[in-house]
Amino acid sequence: MSESIFHLGTGPVHVSAEQIAERVKELGAQIAEDHPTGELHLICVLNGAFMFMADLVRAIDRPLTVDFLSVSSYGSRTESSGEVRLVKDLDQSLKDRQVVLVEDIVDTGLTMQYLLAYLKGRSPRSVRVATLLSKPSRRKVEVQVDYVGFTIPDAYVYGYGLDVDHRLRNLPFVTSQAT
Ligand code: IMP
Repeated sequence: MSESIFHLGTGPVHVSAEQIAERVKELGAQIAEDHPTGELHLICVLNGAFMFMADLVRAIDRPLTVDFLSVSSYGSRTESSGEVRLVKDLDQSLKDRQVVLVEDIVDTGLTMQYLLAYLKGRSPRSVRVATLLSKPSRRKVEVQVDYVGFTIPDAYVYGYGLDVDHRLRNLPFVTSQAT
């Protein structure tokens, strides 16, 4: 796949199940290549990243462990306030581990900024970030993102783990909301 296909321009967003599957395989191979030695530790940000995480771990041909955390951010559904609260903490230590944080979408970047500060404070050997989707035009803070599935325009999207009012996470594709 050419690089440009991952940048979905303007207008409505639709990423098919086949496009996701192909891109996730590529991301998994890249993550494996970037961590040639030792074990990986993948951390899934619940709830939105659960489906991406499940597919991504199967695309990484390296020894790995998994853990899960959950955050909630105050604000309206479409506008995060930047005040992030940890709802479910990690079960395992990060000391000296090669961490890959797995997120569904980086929007303003405020959640990622909080998560990275939190994880880096727990003495990992390395921390890299994988996100299925990124909306760079919405950034309020510059944040580290190492692996991006698809760069999308400013539209609210759902499916493949992402929700609209807790629903529609089971759709096998990602699409933008009809207005
Ligand atoms: P940020 O802190 O503004 O970067 O927001 C990150 C979080 O907001 C994501 O992990 C999602 O939970 C949620 N979010 C942002 N944009 C969307 C969207 O288009 N669809 C679904 N959830 C979104």
